[in-house]
Amino acid sequence: MQISQLSQPGFDRLVMPSKMPVSILRLDRVHPLVSGNKWYKLKEYLKEAGQQKKKAIVTFGGAYSNHILATAAACGQAGFDSIGIIRGEQSPLLSPTLHHAMALGMKLVFISREQYQQKLIPPQVFEQYADDEVYFISEGGYGKQGMTGVSEMLHQFNDAGFTHIMAAVGTGTTLAGLVHATLPHQQVIGISALKNNFELEEQVRNLVPGCHNFKILHDYHFGGYAKYTGELLDFMNTWYNQTGIPSDFVYTGKLFFAFKKLADEGFFQMPAHVLLLHSGGLQGNQSLPPGKLIF
Ligand SMILES: *Cc1c(COP(=O)(O)O)cnc(C)c1O
Repeated sequence: MQISQLSQPGFDRLVMPSKMPVSILRLDRVHPLVSGNKWYKLKEYLKEAGQQKKKAIVTFGGAYSNHILATAAACGQAGFDSIGIIRGEQSPLLSPTLHHAMALGMKLVFISREQYQQKLIPPQVFEQYADDEVYFISEGGYGKQGMTGVSEMLHQFNDAGFTHIMAAVGTGTTLAGLVHATLPHQQVIGISALKNNFELEEQVRNLVPGCHNFKILHDYHFGGYAKYTGELLDFMNTWYNQTGIPSDFVYTGKLFFAFKKLADEGFFQMPAHVLLLHSGGLQGNQSLPPGKLIF
């Protein structure tokens, strides 16, 4: 499975005041649309769909979902029809994310939050296809194949010198992939972007049974999924000024904030070398009021 305009991510390096080295793996640079971790989570699903001769990919998400946009772009290039089942009634004005997904050829189907929770998909979605022509990917790409794609990615870029690997967490698929690919002395730390989502640990363990070298911190959600405060946006601007690295307010801004706080508090025992996964998501900043961010 290949798509065009894919490039290697590469690292940025920083040194903290404590002299601790930090590497940032810039997955946000791998593709202009299939940004960040989403490509690695999707590729195994798309490969399987191709092998099974599927025609259409159906997946799920909210109005600002990076996964929806990435799926629309990847399917367009890989030659699949794509259908996005979107949580909540359609609002008169489409979000920038959905607008973009539709422009890339995705068919959008809006269902109520109740239907969404029960995974009740209106039958007309499938009118054009035979039952065995449709391939489902769960919300956010959660699942074994998604985990495998991320694991292979880290395998390629991991370095025994890294002592800690940190990433933002939504469904936990990416974190599971990292956990799967780490070396025994490395610890994986996930920063949950959701409030009080304490099922996450189990969601991760389900994908990588028997792996325990990870920890999820639940104190950096800034009010919940896609919520933010002035403090978070100020931090993202300062971080950009100091490092030149842009972040998004849903995931990576919260990750970098948490990392900085932990580093300032002396959480990392020297000698340490932290790897931060920049999982992309920058398109999501379009839903902020203009002028809030300097990048
Ligand atoms: C989707 C997303 C995540 C969360 O990934 P999961 O595998 O669902 O945990 C993290 N960062 C960004 C930028 C994302 O778009």
